[in-house]
Amino acid sequence: MVKQGQRIQDLVGLIHKLYAPELAEDWDNVGLQVGDPGRPLDRVMVALDPGLEAVEAARDAGAQALVTHHPLLFKPVKRLTPDDAVGKVLWTAVRDGVAIISAHTNLDCAADGLNNWLAQKIGVEQALPLQAVAGDYLKLIVFVPVGHEDAVSDALFSAGGGQIGAYDQCSFRSSGEGTFRPGPGTQPYIGTVGQRETAEEVRLETIVPKRKLLRVLEKMQKAHPYEEVAYDLLPLKNQVPGAGLGRIGKLAQQATLGEFAARVKESLGCDHLRLIGTDQMPVHKVALCGGSGAFLLQTAHRQGADVLVTGDVKYHEARQAEELGMALIDAGHFATEQLMIEQVIQSLQAAARQLNWGVAFEAYTGEEDPFRFY
Ligand SMILES: [Zn+2]
Repeated sequence: MVKQGQRIQDLVGLIHKLYAPELAEDWDNVGLQVGDPGRPLDRVMVALDPGLEAVEAARDAGAQALVTHHPLLFKPVKRLTPDDAVGKVLWTAVRDGVAIISAHTNLDCAADGLNNWLAQKIGVEQALPLQAVAGDYLKLIVFVPVGHEDAVSDALFSAGGGQIGAYDQCSFRSSGEGTFRPGPGTQPYIGTVGQRETAEEVRLETIVPKRKLLRVLEKMQKAHPYEEVAYDLLPLKNQVPGAGLGRIGKLAQQATLGEFAARVKESLGCDHLRLIGTDQMPVHKVALCGGSGAFLLQTAHRQGADVLVTGDVKYHEARQAEELGMALIDAGHFATEQLMIEQVIQSLQAAARQLNWGVAFEAYTGEEDPFRFY
């Protein structure tokens, strides 16, 4: 049975479940860029860029949301008029009721995200992240009187605490004694004002994504019997399993750079490649990063990559590859990222089907590489 009544906020939640915003770079701006979270939703369009034509195409197709890779808003908006490029898109999106939601570096880094798809597309097997990322997580430790640990755990979990990969309700409990002395004017749950009290307590620990912290704390306070809840928050530097910048893996069989370049060109459907290296160079271990990934050249080299596949390679980066004796393939920013459209649609469709959503997803097909080869 189709579940009725999806809203923009449900789509944002689903996107963030698949591509956790904790994975995004600090400078990035992912998630809902413009739109009313409470607005009903039954059709979604997916594009690489939040251009005016994509917003218009979404509107003409009857879509209430446009999901893009590149975010619309980076710099503060000083005025909202249709006189500049971003203003024109915002103006149209608001006027025509098209919400714009972006999954950018969180999509790049996700375990089942853009770079993984790029690896599959160009035949790189058993691809692992080239550079791990630390998610934006906190450790929450709360001291709970014995008998209340289940209620407090339930509250933490229902607000989004305790999720590790595909496991939820993850926590650790240890027992001990807590001490406290209620001050004047307090109404202690246990003990007497002015006297030190000892209580059997459970130390309850769990992991919390930073963006869910306020809600988790709010629910924790409500479920906790103490007037003054004792808790600690510690920043974590945990790496997220399977997620990270770029990918590195191996081709099923060693090839020459010439053969591999031809395969990349065909699988990504790009007219031209820029190559650093000779056609006969052997290629087996391949590093890759969709978009602008030449900053990963040294990292790829250290991990023994024969070649790095990316876009937006600059002159000095090409020279650096030469000096390292490593091959470099620039397939273009567009060609190494455009494949996200079909893959995001497939992933969202599968997730929506499981949730019995009555929402249709379609690709924006009007995008082209802005570069022409002359
Ligand atoms: Zn990009």
